[in-house]
Amino acid sequence: MTDCLFCRIVNKEIPSRLVYEDEKVLAFEDIKPQAPAHILIIPKKHLASLKEADENDQNLLGYLLLTARKIAQDKGLAESGFRLVINSGPDSGQEVYHLHVHLLGGRRFGWPPG
Ligand code: AMP
Ligand code: ZN
Repeated sequence: MTDCLFCRIVNKEIPSRLVYEDEKVLAFEDIKPQAPAHILIIPKKHLASLKEADENDQNLLGYLLLTARKIAQDKGLAESGFRLVINSGPDSGQEVYHLHVHLLGGRRFGWPPG
């Protein structure tokens, strides 16, 4: 048993709207979408944030990005464009301390971010 929300989603102790799963990563729809498409891509391995990642995670981090790219392609977002966000630590607004990549698409985003 873990008290990490996303580990519990990985372990299927909490339901999610799954988009993609393999041995290394899981992708599911964000429960509070900020865009027409809002998907979270997470490593199955628990890493609290990017701060906790090191060189042993190099392949995994690349794999997360390539998975996000593949999902963006599959969802038809690749041509119009999409945004990836990794919040890390208090100033970023990170709420769930299990590393995740936000994949956002389906609308125009502003810059700089709020
Ligand atoms: P962050 O602020 O980067 O830590 O983002 C955490 C994200 O997780 C937010 O966009 C939440 O809406 C989302 N979230 C929280 N709980 C769940 C859940 N049970 N299923 C799916 N997404 C969730
Ligand atoms: Zn976790």
